[in-house]
Amino acid sequence: MIKKRFKNFIYQIINNDLLSGKHKKICTRFPPEPNGYLHIGHAKSICLNFNLAKDYNGYCNLRIDDTNPTQENIKYINFIKRDIKWLGFHWNGKVRYSSDYFDVMYKYALELIEKKLAYVDQLSSKEIRKYRGSLILPGKNSPYRKQSIKKNKILFLKMKHGEFSEGNACLRAKINMNSTSMIMRDPILYRIKFVSHYRTKNKWCIYPTYDFAQCISDALEGITHSLCTLEFQENRKLYNWILQNISFNNTYPHQYEFSRLNLQYTVTSKRKIRKLIEKKIIEDWDDPRLPTISGLRRKGYTPNSIKNFCYNIGITRQDSNIEISSLESCIRKDLNENAIRSMAVINPLRIIIKNLPKEYEENIIMPNHPKKKVMGTRKVIFSKEIYIDKSDFCEINKKNYKRLVLGKEVRLRNSYIIKACYVNKDIKGNVISVICTYDPNTLHKNHKDGKKKLGVIHWVSAKKNIKAKFHLYEKLFNEVIPTEKSLISSINKNSLIIYKGFVESNMSKAKIGENYQFERIGYFCIDNKNNKNLFPYLIFNRTVTLREKINN
Ligand code: ATP
Ligand code: MG
Repeated sequence: MIKKRFKNFIYQIINNDLLSGKHKKICTRFPPEPNGYLHIGHAKSICLNFNLAKDYNGYCNLRIDDTNPTQENIKYINFIKRDIKWLGFHWNGKVRYSSDYFDVMYKYALELIEKKLAYVDQLSSKEIRKYRGSLILPGKNSPYRKQSIKKNKILFLKMKHGEFSEGNACLRAKINMNSTSMIMRDPILYRIKFVSHYRTKNKWCIYPTYDFAQCISDALEGITHSLCTLEFQENRKLYNWILQNISFNNTYPHQYEFSRLNLQYTVTSKRKIRKLIEKKIIEDWDDPRLPTISGLRRKGYTPNSIKNFCYNIGITRQDSNIEISSLESCIRKDLNENAIRSMAVINPLRIIIKNLPKEYEENIIMPNHPKKKVMGTRKVIFSKEIYIDKSDFCEINKKNYKRLVLGKEVRLRNSYIIKACYVNKDIKGNVISVICTYDPNTLHKNHKDGKKKLGVIHWVSAKKNIKAKFHLYEKLFNEVIPTEKSLISSINKNSLIIYKGFVESNMSKAKIGENYQFERIGYFCIDNKNNKNLFPYLIFNRTVTLREKINN
């Protein structure tokens, strides 16, 4: 896997920069906005930035991009830190915050005013938009563009002191209203927001824009390669313009763009996720149906499976929509190797073995993994009454049906062969139990004279077991790429199906964070959130089916 991650164009750029002597040390950063949880798209950026630092013996900063106080919430910062650590990455030194640099940014804004490169505009936001023109129409200069340096300084100070209302003034760069690049048509550098910031409190009522804050923060931290997603490609011009026009003596950082990760049948935009939570369509940011890091963890994904997925999709400049199956195949591969095997019955049917005494109990030793002896064994209780899955019994034989049928035999996984004799039904005619016999000479082996290969089904003792609920997840949307408009209407109403059943009694020792393969059903983990409240049920989340496109 390690090799795969070296194969992207950013590595080529860095190799050239090191060869030419442009840089000696490689410094990157990961700059999340604290307005939601991290998701699989962030994981792609995290893997890229932190691995570059690791591979070139440089450093990667974690910088909380907190320049927009209206959206931010301090609680998200802890979740961001937790998720990065869980993925196995370490940032350089202390956590940094864009808000650490508000004073310096303010000074640089004044410098631009002094250099006649910025002015306070008092057009309304509607007018600003109108004056900006369009891709086919040139822009028009704001009447405030010609203001003297002195006037601009006074007005900017007034902005800072809260003497303007929100939207009545802003600081704009003076570049070119006819530029073919819309971003260069006098972009806004500072806007007024009467919002208290969770770190700087009420010190500021003017806040820098993303474009102004990002390049200055990168430069101050000595970032060499500032990596972001393709939608910021045009912003690179402004990034460079700002850095070239402020007095900054070090080597400039350079911005490079790569394509965003989009996953099919789900959403990664934090805005859309927030809407789903507000509408109570999903529980919270860590709902296992979401592609957030916390959601994936709760569903049973491992850090390695997420990282391998990111290395597999690679870093390119091509936009694409990745199939969920490629993420699923990464976790399946990991869990096939590492998950403890166990048995669970999610839709129980009672089996009564008539040639066993009522109190019969036998401990059968079973391997925790068919191919890995080191994973040890476990004791599974076999008793007179057991549960099998309803779908594993049929009164009348069907073609190619290799499970239990009246008058026929089947093997119970890792134990005996049983034969179905007759059924008990309720008044509606539903089968409520199946009366069977077992052959005591068939533990882990065939009948003495038997040659034919029987079907194998899983089971759980009806005498000693643990009650469980099984959360089976399907894709969250019916549409491949849900849009803003179709966000709610394209929700898959069956994205969560809950079954009630039983797991082996040894599951009382199961721990959060462990992964299981319930034989023939799928990979599962204990839900890390709800279990405390729902005693006597243990809750298991299905991470992924055993094979692609098998749905229960
Ligand atoms: P969202 O649309 O989810 O709100 P964002 O870009 O606003 O995403 P930030 O918190 O600002 O989220 O992102 C932090 C870093 O993660 C940025 O460098 C951004 O480029 C990167 N990033 C965010 N989403 C993706 C994605 N889907 N694929 C790759 N990188 C991403
Ligand atoms: Mg953002």
